[in-house]
Parts: sequence; C-alpha cells; structure tokens
Amino acid sequence: MTTLADCRALDAQDPLRALRDQFTIPEGVLYLDGNSLGVMPKAAPARIAEVVTKEWGEGLIRSWNTASWFDLPQRLGDKVARLIGAAPGEVVCTDSTSVNLYKVLFAALSQQKDSGRKLVVSERSNFPTDLYIAESLCRERGFTLKLIDASELQGPDSVLTDEVAVLMLTHVNYRTGAMHDMKAVTAAAHAAGALTVWDLAHSAGAVPVALNESNADYAIGCGYKYLNGGPGAPAFAWVHTKHAGQFEQPLSGWWGHAAPFEFTPHYRPAPGVGRYLCGTQPIIALAGLECGLDTVLAAEAFNGDHGAMAALRTKSLALTDLFIKLVEERCAGQGVSLITPREHAQRGSQVCLSREEGAYAIVQALIARGVIGDYRAGDSQMPDILRFGFTPLYIGFEDVWNSVEHLVQVLETGEWKREEFNRKNAVT
Ligand SMILES: *Cc1c(COP(=O)(O)O)cnc(C)c1O
Repeated sequence: MTTLADCRALDAQDPLRALRDQFTIPEGVLYLDGNSLGVMPKAAPARIAEVVTKEWGEGLIRSWNTASWFDLPQRLGDKVARLIGAAPGEVVCTDSTSVNLYKVLFAALSQQKDSGRKLVVSERSNFPTDLYIAESLCRERGFTLKLIDASELQGPDSVLTDEVAVLMLTHVNYRTGAMHDMKAVTAAAHAAGALTVWDLAHSAGAVPVALNESNADYAIGCGYKYLNGGPGAPAFAWVHTKHAGQFEQPLSGWWGHAAPFEFTPHYRPAPGVGRYLCGTQPIIALAGLECGLDTVLAAEAFNGDHGAMAALRTKSLALTDLFIKLVEERCAGQGVSLITPREHAQRGSQVCLSREEGAYAIVQALIARGVIGDYRAGDSQMPDILRFGFTPLYIGFEDVWNSVEHLVQVLETGEWKREEFNRKNAVT
C-alpha cells in the first residue's frame, strides 16, 4: 500500500516542484481542473495591467509598433510551436478553438474539393463544438460527416477508404483522456488519400506532440486549458508547410492579407499561416496568453534539448499513475471504475472515473471540500464521468494523496447524497 509518506518523498525528489511558484493558487484549493481552465500565472495581473495602463493608456496607437502589438500572434505562435513539435513561423495565436477549427477544416475541404471524396470522418465522442462546426461546414460545402468509434480506424474494415476527404480528430479525448497515436493514424489517413485535422485542446501543454514528425496536415488548439492563458484566451492554428502556399482562409479579413496596410480593394492572402488571422487581435488577451505560455516553457530548463513537454510528461505520468493506484487501493468496493486507458502511450494528462450512481454529486461534494475536478454527463455509449486533470506544473504527489483521501471520505460517509450536492448548476 502506498502511504502519505511515500507521496511526500516523491515531492521531495521532484525536480519540477519549484515550477508551482509561478502560480497563484487559492488557499485550501486542490485544483484538478487545469484541463478546463488553467490556473492564473502570478505574472499575469501585472503584465495585463502594464498593457492596459502603459501600452494602451500612454502608448496609444503607437503601441502597435513600439510595443510590438502587431506581430504578437506570430511571436506567441512561435512559443506554442516549441510545445507541439512545429517550427517557428508555422503557428499563429488567434481567435477561438471553434473558429480556428472552422478555418482549418474549410481549408482541408477546399483542397479535397475536386477529389470526388465526400466524407469527413470524426469520432462520435469528439468534443461537441468540433462536431457542430464540422456539421455546418459539411452542409455548406457538400460533404457528409461520418461519426465513428476510434476502433473503426484500424484493421481490414477500417473506415479510412477512398471516400474520405478529411479525418478530423481530437488527439486526447476530452472526456475519457484516451490519446491517439498521431503518427500512425496520420499515416493511415494519408495512405487512404485523406487529409488530417488534429484538435490539440487537451494536448498542448499536456503531452508531447510532434506535428511535423507525424506529417500532420492541419492542427488547432486551446489557450486557456493546459497553456494557462486565462478564460477565453486566444487559441492557435498550425498548418504543415507543404500546404503553406495553397490553403484557403474562408474568413478572409484584412489581417490575413499579404500587405494589410496597402488597403487594396482585393484580398491577397499572406504567405503561410499568417493568413489564418482575420481581424484586429485582442491584445490584452494575448498578453495574458503569453504569461501562460511562459509558465509551460519554464519547464525547458529541466530537460536539456528535449523541450518542456518531455520533462512535464514524465511527471504527468507519475501523477496519473499514482492517482490510479491510490484510487484502486483505497476506493475498492465503492463502485468506482477507471475509464482512462492504463497504457501510457494511450492517455493524456487526465484520469476519468465512472460510477453508476452519483457521479455529479460526488464531484460537487469534492468541490465543496476544495478539490476541484469536474463532471461530464454520459450518454448511451458512455457512463457519467468524474474527471480529474493533473497539470504537472502545479500539482504535486501529496496533492494526489489528498485528493484521493477526500474522495474516500465522500464515498465512505455517503456525503455526496446530501441534497445540496444533487442540484445542477448551469456550468458543470
Ligand atoms: C475545450 C475544447 C474546445 C473549446 O473551444 P472554444 O472555441 O474555446 O469554446 C474545442 N474543442 C475541444 C476538443 C476542446 O476540448
């Protein structure tokens, strides 16, 4: 049996533990929801205040040049690139994940419009906004969205046929934490003649991603989850350089123009990923995102040439392994089962549990104790889920022990059955 002392010993040996000092975490809170909204970097309030009072207040319009506002989307994109196996100049930070998905999926569909291929394939369990965006784009562009289970991508009866135009997947599933093998799946899609669109919402800052090495085509991701960019932070978009000269941007605004300040009447796309910008960028929000990105990049100092994510991944797996072990040792007989795959190569940085009864109320009871995870409703395919995200930047091994200790108490005492924990809130 694992003990609290064992967990403390792991913290004492943890080379990354000082990274936690980069964040403001409220007293008494054990935050296991960095997969939904990352915690606030300590640097963010002062940096945002500086942008507002100095750069906006004093610099005014001059700040587009003097404070480098103009190239912020590319400069931050270069920072994201270091976390997702991309090169400088290949990523921009802009718009929301949903909007960026619209842009990249449109681009991929345009490339396939003369191929005779009519299917966009995605997973039934994908995040709803991805499916909604794909649904409307397919309707608009004359394609059909085909929803599958991950297992249908493999084997002799694979759905990857010569009818598939685009395979659109979320790399790490938001609900189960299951992770695709990006390189293998991309190779299978390419062998079938399809292009790939990857959503990295639960990957960027959570697991190592190798976009170029995987030869992926398009990718997008979220700024406010593991990248700690703040609520509604700008998202990012990436395109492989092999498509750089030819992909279409449907939201052809002036910021994606090759020469926006020539004010010409006709659109001429900027080379490469720059054309994914649409209009004037949210500078204050981008400043918050930069603070978040810097907290993740700080892990580069701990792993030589292998990048921030290699160091963070080692700790992330140790944390999630420990959580699984403790839940299995201490919650046996409580009806809790593990949904997330056990194999390291098949999971992200979160662990999901299910329970026949009370999943929502158990999460509420934990939140009342300061242990913040979240709940995701089940459907015909999937039970209700208790979801716990482990962000190695600010979660330690004793935190894992304490979170399981609270879970044990909530289950053993039946505390979750209290009426107050069974009332539904608007945002779960
Ligand atoms: C969080 C998440 C989003 C969020 O999209 P927004 O446009 O920021 O609301 C999209 N897709 C996936 C897979 C996500 O996990």
